[in-house]
Parts: sequence; structure tokens; C-alpha cells
Amino acid sequence: MKDQAGNAMLGGLSRREMLRCAAGAAAGSTLTALPGVAIATFATTADREIVREFPFGAVRLTGGPLKTQFDRNHAHYLALSNDRLLKVFRQRVGLPAPGVDMGGWYDANGFVPGLTLGQYISGLSRIGASTGDQACHGKARALVAGFGEFLARTDNPYAGPGAEKMWPSYVMDKYLVGLIDAYRLSGIEQAKDLLPQVIAKCRPFISPVSKDRIGKKDPPYDETYVLPENLFAAAEVTRDRQYHDLAVHYLLNPEWFDPLSAGTNVLPSKHAYSHTIALSSGGRAYLATGDPKYKKALENAWRFMEAQRFASGGWGPEEQFVEPGKGKLFESLTNSTAHFETPCGSYADLKLARYLIRLTGDSRYADGLERTLYNTMLAVRTPDSDGGYPYYSNYGANAEKKYYHRKWPCCSGTLAQGVADYTLNVYFHDDDSLYVNLFTPSIVRWTRPGSTVVIEQSTSYPAEDASRITIRSGGKFALKVRIPAWTRDATISVNGRSGGTAKAGQYAVIERNWKQNDVLDVVVPQPLRTLPIDDSHPEVVALMRGQVMYVGLNPWEGLPETPVALPTALKPIQGQSDRYVMNAGGKDLVFVPYFDVQLERYATYFRTS
Ligand SMILES: [Zn+2]
Repeated sequence: MKDQAGNAMLGGLSRREMLRCAAGAAAGSTLTALPGVAIATFATTADREIVREFPFGAVRLTGGPLKTQFDRNHAHYLALSNDRLLKVFRQRVGLPAPGVDMGGWYDANGFVPGLTLGQYISGLSRIGASTGDQACHGKARALVAGFGEFLARTDNPYAGPGAEKMWPSYVMDKYLVGLIDAYRLSGIEQAKDLLPQVIAKCRPFISPVSKDRIGKKDPPYDETYVLPENLFAAAEVTRDRQYHDLAVHYLLNPEWFDPLSAGTNVLPSKHAYSHTIALSSGGRAYLATGDPKYKKALENAWRFMEAQRFASGGWGPEEQFVEPGKGKLFESLTNSTAHFETPCGSYADLKLARYLIRLTGDSRYADGLERTLYNTMLAVRTPDSDGGYPYYSNYGANAEKKYYHRKWPCCSGTLAQGVADYTLNVYFHDDDSLYVNLFTPSIVRWTRPGSTVVIEQSTSYPAEDASRITIRSGGKFALKVRIPAWTRDATISVNGRSGGTAKAGQYAVIERNWKQNDVLDVVVPQPLRTLPIDDSHPEVVALMRGQVMYVGLNPWEGLPETPVALPTALKPIQGQSDRYVMNAGGKDLVFVPYFDVQLERYATYFRTS
């Protein structure tokens, strides 16, 4: 049979449209840049990326749970008081400093004074570039100006002794990312001018060589390994090679990248967030230098991390990677309530997944990205208006989502950035293909040489299994749709013609000269399944539907000891396609997606025997 374009059809779809594996996707691609914002990139970088991220602004969220949180964060960070954010900097140099003290970690005598200013600027610039909201750019501009006023009056760029003595590299990194994003995404020239000044003024305070974090609970905490990613970016922005060399200088090779690239699992007992975000420096190092060691290190680190993830995708109880094969995650369910440092850990994990998607084009990393995104970043409790933020996720027997006990922690900064990054996760592209990575209502504008492709996705996923992709402006290219490894019998059809089932664990490729109003329907069944807490305790499991972790609401005493038949005993709740109920020891236990929980008490792991 033939379709309207005259292509021979195979089981509905043409031979050229038939589903095939996307491994070995074409390398080399045009560089994408925001209109009016120059992004300099080292020429060779293009060859090292199999697929590319879209720039901020190319993808718009149009509905669904990701957009709900994105919009809430947009309003939240826009509402922070500039005077309060700048107060600690103004105080330090004797400028008038109106406004109420921030409190918590942020104050002059706090744990890390002024730590998150750069991250709030970064988040605002990213949201501004994604949405076009000039208020975000304006706020970023005002904060950069306020920071510039401070910096002009001092050679000590830190807002207080805690930042200066215990966290100089960490805070320097946050300054850099704020200024880089303010320049690139909000077009703030002053931010570019401040970059060399910040680096020069921070350097006397930071370690002269790369340095691993020593103490988890005791100082010194400082960590240089978060620096290189942003120093590479600073080299691009300023076109000054010395920052590239400085980035290379601070790569944590002997302790981290060398053993990881050799396949040695050096994760156990390392500080989990810091070492994961350091992998972003490795990803950036591979792009900037082409040294395959860094790509290998990232791939191996991911493999080691896979062996110690909770069902949510989170890792690192008490902020530490555990030794695999020793039942340590199971132990942590009762001896800790600090199972995953969520906005920070999620931010680092999602960045790592995106680097690996870009460097390999392998859908397994996109599967992982989806899991972490839905069950950690999306699942945090909404912050209050005065410094109350999520920090630890608790997967214990009778848990609740609590704010951190001190205001304005590190996680308030990574929450701003991580949610602002949501649009980066949905679609990727290469020269000839558009990758559909997440099923969420959205529109993507893909600017290609000589044409612009526009695609709209509508779906109620993950509540429902189906997603519809409508071509608004077409062209000849391949749509590569992620078929998650955990699904079975996923189907794809084009303009109502079935293409049959698509193989799980890869991208389904539909290549075609796409016309306006062509429609691709994909159905990804999300089976109920369980994931064990660890290898040593296969009988203790969490409930998953597809990639979404479910929890039981309002658990009672004795529930952890009650064997339950998961998932077979679950019954759907009438009228609610994403909720289930189960009888456990004579009582009803209602299961809901973890990301739907706010203040209810919940249980994550259950005994099946
Ligand atoms: Zn944190």
C-alpha cells in the first residue's frame, strides 16, 4: 500500500517511516542561538554532540504538571525582594541596606552568606528567556547592578565570613552562573563586564589547586570541582582563553574522573550532590577539549548511580553515596529521614542526564531523566514566601514533605534553576531529526537552515497513556519518539494509519516529509510495576506506574510489617485514572503519584512478603 506521499507502506507506515533504532544518529549540527544573543562556541564542539539541546525560548510548556510548577516558580522567584536579596552585600561595604534580613543561611553571620543570589539571577534569566517575560530580565538586571555596586567597593567578593572561609569556590561558581546567564539569556552587558572581576577577586580565596570535599558534616566543605563548567562558559562569553585553561586546571582528575573513566566505582561515601554536579564539569570538559576520558567517566558514573537509586531516581541518603550490595538503602529507610537532597540532587542529576543524552543520543538517559524529573524536582513541596524550601525527600514509613529547618538553603537556588530548565528536557534535535523526549503539553519551534519547523504536543500524560503530536509547520525530517524501556506494546500511528508496536528502550523513528496538520499519535502504556529498595531486599518495594512513583496516603502503625500484594491487589478508583486503592490488613490504602502529595503523610516502601 502507499500513503498519500507515494511511499510504500509497511503495516500502515511506509518503509521509510517504519520504526527503527536511532542508535548512531548523525553527528554534527548547526549551532542554535537565541535571536539577538550571540553564543560563541568552540568550533570543534559540534562534532562531539550527537544531539543538541534547544535554546531557552524554543520550547514553550502549554499545560500539564510541569507547567503548573514552572508557572508557580516563575511567580515565586519574581516576587522575592531585591532589597532583601542585596542587603547582606550592601551591609558588607557600608551602603544603605534597606529591607528585612533574609535569615537562615543567607545572612552575614549565616552558614553561607549570600550564597544563592547568583542562582536566583540565573533562574530569572532562564525563565525570562523561556517565556519572554521582561519582568524577569528586569529583575535580573537590577540584581546584577546591585551586585556590581557591591563589587566596585571591595576586593573581597563574599558577603560574609561563612562564604569566604568555608565556601569560596562554591559561591564563586554561583556568581559565575548568574552572570553568564544574565548576559547570555537576558542580554545584560554589565554581567559580562563583571565576570573577569569576580574571577579575579575570588581567586585569592579559593584553593590554588583542585580539591575534593573532605568533610561531610565538618569543615572544610569547599569544593573546587563545581567550578570548571562555568569557567568554560566564561571563556566562551569573554573569548579569553585563560578561563578555559583555568577550567582545565580545576578538573578533579585523580580523585574522580580518572578512576571513573577506568571503570572504578569510587562513589561510595562521597558527598552525593557535589560529586554529581562535578560530572557537569566533566561533560563540559569533553565538549571543550574532546578528551574521551570525561565522556567515559560520565557514562560509568551513571551506571554506578543506577545501582543505588531509590525508586524516585534519587540517591545518597544522608547526602552520601552508599556501597552497593550491602543493603544500605534498606537500612536508610529506618535510620534516616534524609534520603535525597532534592532540588540540588535533582538539578545535578538532570544536568548529567542531559549531558549524556547530548553526548550519546542514547534513550536510556532520557528514561532516567524522566524518572528523576517527575519523582524528585516536580515532587517537592511548594516553597513558602519567606525562605521555607524543600531539601530532603523522605522515603520512610510515615513521612511528610517538610521544609528545611533553616531558611534559604542551597536547595532554594537549585529549585530556581532546575524548574527553569524544564523546557530543555522535552525535545532535542540533530541536523535531520527532532527528538520527543517527554510527553507533556508543549510547542517547539525548531529553526533549521531555510525553514522553521513547529510542532505541538497535546497529552494528559502521565495520567493517560496517549500523546498527540501535530505538525504546525512541516518539512522533511525524522521524528524520533522515545519509547521508554519499561513500557510494553507502545503504538505509533501517523494520520490515523497504524505503524504497529514500537520497540521499548529506544527512539522510534518516523521519517517523512511532514506536512502542516499531519498528526502522530503515540500510546505508551504505563504498567503498574514495583521496584525493590535494593538487591539485598527484593521483598521491599515501591510502586511505579510507568516512570511515576506512587505512595500510599495516611499510613498507619503496623503497615510496614503488613505484607501487601503489589501491584496485583490494586484496584482503580472510579473516575480517577491515576489513583488506586488496595486493602491492606482490613484497611483501605489509597495510592497517588508522589508528585501530587503536598501536606499528606505518606509511605513509599512496602513489604510484599
Ligand atoms: Zn541543596
